[in-house]
Amino acid sequence: MASETGTGAAAPVVTRFAPSPTGYLHIGGARTALFNWLFSRHHGGKALLRIEDTDRKRSTQDAIDKIIDGLAWLGLDYDAPPLFQSDRAARHAEVAQQLLAKGHAYRCFATPEELEAMRAEQRARKLPQRYDRRWRDRAESEAPAGAPSVIRLKVPEAGETSIEDAVQGRVTVQNAEIDDYVLLRADGTPTYMLAVVVDDHDMGVTHVIRGDDHLNNAFRQLPIIKAMGWPEPVYAHIPLIHGTDGAKLSKRHGAVGVEAYRDDEGVLPEALFNYLLRLGWGHGDREEITREEAIALFDLAGVGKSPSRFDFKKLQNLNGHYIREADDARLAALVAERLGTGADLALLTCAMPVLKPRARDLNELAEGARFLFAKRPLALDDKARGLLGNEERGLLAAIAAALRAERSWDAEALEARIKALAEQLGLGLGKLAQPMRAALTGTTTSPGIFDVLVLLGRDEALARIEDHAAQPATTS
Ligand code: GLU
Repeated sequence: MASETGTGAAAPVVTRFAPSPTGYLHIGGARTALFNWLFSRHHGGKALLRIEDTDRKRSTQDAIDKIIDGLAWLGLDYDAPPLFQSDRAARHAEVAQQLLAKGHAYRCFATPEELEAMRAEQRARKLPQRYDRRWRDRAESEAPAGAPSVIRLKVPEAGETSIEDAVQGRVTVQNAEIDDYVLLRADGTPTYMLAVVVDDHDMGVTHVIRGDDHLNNAFRQLPIIKAMGWPEPVYAHIPLIHGTDGAKLSKRHGAVGVEAYRDDEGVLPEALFNYLLRLGWGHGDREEITREEAIALFDLAGVGKSPSRFDFKKLQNLNGHYIREADDARLAALVAERLGTGADLALLTCAMPVLKPRARDLNELAEGARFLFAKRPLALDDKARGLLGNEERGLLAAIAAALRAERSWDAEALEARIKALAEQLGLGLGKLAQPMRAALTGTTTSPGIFDVLVLLGRDEALARIEDHAAQPATTS
């Protein structure tokens, strides 16, 4: 624990999740959020949320809502209301001015045309395209009066910068590789790089846990932190998520937004929570880990260095496990939403114990429950129709008669009745069960047929069988 909390000081852990609201909460973002949240909960620290909405053109309220909604759905709560980066432009500008005053930044008056010419020349000479620091050592008085300027960071030219990354290990970059990038634009607005550093500092962030696509940014952000004399956070850059084909996860691999897993794929939040946890973090061979265990066990040492592969089949299997574990009334409510109007919650709740062992997601669960609310005469699917020939219709008539004689409508008694009939007819039980299933559910797959009879109740079950039986049965 001491090494993970950084310099050894007993500063309480503060993490942040800092999504840019330019789209949905994607799987990678959700995992970053989860790791940050678990790390702070593990250490009894604070988990914070910052919406990085400085790109006003690409940020949308819809994306902000989806991100906040998705995090809440996963059960990730925060210790303060979200901070909106766009509200803090004045503070960011203030820090740029302080850096300027301390000599760690300078004004650059290069015009866009000048910079373009500089880059064209670098291209022609096959040099890396980078600001050539032309205003670093020039006096501001050399600029034309009233000329617009940006503020650039004065990055040390000599030496190197190292990070002891909690996931990547020690990473070193030559300072000469880091450009004197813009902190404050000519119109006075801060750049993203400045905003992140100032916000992390002001929020008291001790651990920056994020995707390793931001590792290079850490080397650009550190010079600001050092120049301001602020404490350096512990960095943990986690490898990106790839698809099963090894390529970076993208839309091509299917749904990438968390809400699509919830709404379209019928995934339970605890399943996605557990799956994301195991995506890049491990604790021995443990597959199923509860939320409380995850908080107790999570550490950055368990985060692997290589990209993890997102495998929807595995998520689905895990989801099946969580469906079997889930409370019946809760599942009934979720299934009722999917089935639309007319779904009886009490009936659905009773049906869950026999439906849930068969389902890997809420869609399958809803499909499996659909027969309960089907209207007579049931529409049969192709297989069920194919199964009900003349012989089977005759059997249905005999079955209906046998069942009518049964007064106690419970699975055991009904099973005994049908078994006796099968014996009497010299047939296997399956010969009777299949036509019954077709008539009762309109399909050829369902929970155990005696459970189906009980769930439907005597009148409905008998009527469904008789709808498809050879002769109208006489009422008893
Ligand atoms: N806003 C950045 C993103 O969504 C994250 C920045 C950070 O974590 O430092 O990729």
